[in-house]
Amino acid sequence: YKNAPPNVRALWLSTAQFAERDYLVYRDQHITYAAAHRMTASIANWLMDQGVKPGDRIAIAMRNYPEWMLIYWAAVSIGVAVVGMNAWWTAEEMEYALKDSAPKVLFADPERLARVLERPGMAEGIKLVAVRTDPPHELIDWAQVIARGGDMPAVEVDPDADACIFYTSGTTGFPKGAQLTHRGCIANLMNMMFSGQVQTLATSRATGVVVDPAAAPVPVALLTTPLFHVTANNCGAYLVTAAGGTLVMMYRWDAGEALSLIETHRVTAMSGVPVMAREVLSHPEFETTDTSSLMSLGGGGAQLPPDLVAKIDSKVATARPNTGYGMTETCGIITSVSGDFFVDKPDSAGPAMPAFEVKVVDDEGHALPSGQIGELWVRGTPVIKGYINRPDATAESITDGWLHTGDVARIDEDGFIYLVDRKKDMVLRGGENVYCAEVEAAIYHHDAVAECCVFGVPDERLGEEVGVAVVLRPGATLSAQALRDHVAVRIARHKAPRYVWFMTEPLPRNASGKFLRRELRENLPVEEAA
Ligand code: ATP
Ligand code: MG
Repeated sequence: YKNAPPNVRALWLSTAQFAERDYLVYRDQHITYAAAHRMTASIANWLMDQGVKPGDRIAIAMRNYPEWMLIYWAAVSIGVAVVGMNAWWTAEEMEYALKDSAPKVLFADPERLARVLERPGMAEGIKLVAVRTDPPHELIDWAQVIARGGDMPAVEVDPDADACIFYTSGTTGFPKGAQLTHRGCIANLMNMMFSGQVQTLATSRATGVVVDPAAAPVPVALLTTPLFHVTANNCGAYLVTAAGGTLVMMYRWDAGEALSLIETHRVTAMSGVPVMAREVLSHPEFETTDTSSLMSLGGGGAQLPPDLVAKIDSKVATARPNTGYGMTETCGIITSVSGDFFVDKPDSAGPAMPAFEVKVVDDEGHALPSGQIGELWVRGTPVIKGYINRPDATAESITDGWLHTGDVARIDEDGFIYLVDRKKDMVLRGGENVYCAEVEAAIYHHDAVAECCVFGVPDERLGEEVGVAVVLRPGATLSAQALRDHVAVRIARHKAPRYVWFMTEPLPRNASGKFLRRELRENLPVEEAA
């Protein structure tokens, strides 16, 4: 391990100390640190047998199975970059990413493999490995890879080389392949550890529960979001691996299943996209489930609405609410906040983590004084090298090491960052900026609302008007006018939605759980709004 990148040493160190502890748990499958380490070495040796060299890439197209993590560590340990393929991609999108990233080997689960095989030529020149096919596939089967055996190979790895290529969520346009370096990933891990320490110190006034940092249990984290994004991988999985904890994996998100896993495995931390925490708290089985093992509950990837911060704090006595703000382009978190710090400032995403410098700038890129609203720029080790095959997009996003986040924010006198909106999501109503996140937060304070998503609706007079798609809780009723009146108590009346669509189905989301705002905007006819 002398030459292995430091991020892989997290796995090695935890294996050395906690060999027989469960590392990965999926349904009735339990993989200990020792077993995971053995399989990782086998995969790494097999890859080298195939002629895969440092600087090459391999791709993973799978749901959150334990194999995902094993393949990831195996590749990273020999300096081979992992391309995280979005499991929700269609055959066409997969083809784009394979051409874009040119991996030497593709590991695919049955559903993804079928998509690849349905398009002849799509994986030309790429070795396919079938994972979890039953019976074994006539292509290269996973069993062969695992049977290779051998010790972990000693390969010298450049810390500034790519550890993985993760595609951005595609919320504002076509996904771009971000290059996360080994050094960037380890810097994010250090930020995560720092944020964990702050969290342990943050006890709750609402419930009076005091967490003794010395008595903190081994982390058991419920993995709710896909491993091809930084939230699950670089934040969740890295932290758990370094701490010698257990990752409880789920095939797909389901609040009822999450509750039962929390009780069965004594889960200490659950994070994901904010809506997941909301679903858990409002699930009919919440009251009868033992959630006393939970020490933190929250999420990121989108704003955690302030009402939810208070609900988490008061409904789960032992769990502190927490959130993080980050991007694919920053290998993970830029900010994070938890416990009382969060309860006191529930509309903030917290202060910048130690690896980052941050500033809010005007349209010319000049820094603005504290308190003023502008685009957030961040600089630090975790910032990506760039986007593969997109020098144009790279040059547009990063200047002098400063990453232009595309997020509109302000920073208060304590250094806490408030995310106001995405530059591309703001509603421009009669020359005034209306921030979707602010309107949504006001709407969520109404108990009848289960989900809502705000967006701009073209308007002849004002340019844009505020529209919202709302899903009510089962059995709840609410009129559009009552909704507007409710909102107007919290924010200026001109920000209250002029158009309200009451939806009967859950709102459409992408694989990272974010609302497909543009799809709603394009598909909801104005005549059908209340
Ligand atoms: P694309 O860049 O392809 O349009 P994306 O920006 O959604 O997609 P990600 O890298 O997954 O892709 O998401 C990062 C973005 O998510 C941030 O720039 C920010 O807009 C939003 N975000 C993440 N965490 C938070 C948070 N805690 N609060 C508010 N917004 C957040
Ligand atoms: Mg983005």
